[in-house]
Amino acid sequence: MSFNIAIDGPAGAGKSTIAKQLAKSLGVIYVDTGAMYRAMAYYFITNGIAPQDIEKIAEACGQVDITLTYENGVQNVWLNGENVSDKIRTEEVGKMASATSVYPVVRNKLVELQQQLAKKADVIMDGRDIGTVVLPDADVKIYMTASPAIRAKRRYDELTAKGMECDLEEIEKDIIERDYRDMNRENSPLKKADDAVELDTSDLDIDGVVKAMKEIIERVK
Ligand code: C5P
Repeated sequence: MSFNIAIDGPAGAGKSTIAKQLAKSLGVIYVDTGAMYRAMAYYFITNGIAPQDIEKIAEACGQVDITLTYENGVQNVWLNGENVSDKIRTEEVGKMASATSVYPVVRNKLVELQQQLAKKADVIMDGRDIGTVVLPDADVKIYMTASPAIRAKRRYDELTAKGMECDLEEIEKDIIERDYRDMNRENSPLKKADDAVELDTSDLDIDGVVKAMKEIIERVK
């Protein structure tokens, strides 16, 4: 049986930064499920498919092949044979991912892939529905949060560090909108699993969060 850690929470709570570090120090694989929804969204955008066009989206789901590979512990996302790891990191793709992740046809396809990965290997998987739907029997479940203003600032710093131009206010507005949609959708909404430990990262730096996470993992292991 593999050992699995599930991390859920809203955009910018620090899930991926922390999960990457923890995966390295624990020697397990980091699975970024948001990247899969983003890869699907990237396909819809590049093929001119509107987020409301459920027929075309359902059809596209049958034509999309998403694969994850790992190089020195770093996840690469492949969309029909093309490495899209960098291309999916824009606000436009994030918004489209949030708009199209509401559809069961999209979710079912990706959830199955995620469950297969977790069965094969010890993983830290992050997303919105990992503790509730994808890995309900995960060994450790953590729900990470932070205030919207802090999450917006983190996303802003991340994007500007990559040389992308962006507006802090705009990002905060997008984050609030995205959270609302993720938390209020009918299928697999973002919520804390009953047996998850909640961790508010608003006042913690990266080392502080990693330390807190390690303590939680040790406690429940
Ligand atoms: O985490 P990230 O910002 O990359 O995720 C992009 C979008 O993908 C989220 O806003 C959410 O709508 C969707 N998502 C999801 N379920 C997951 C991971 C991401 O619905 N497990």
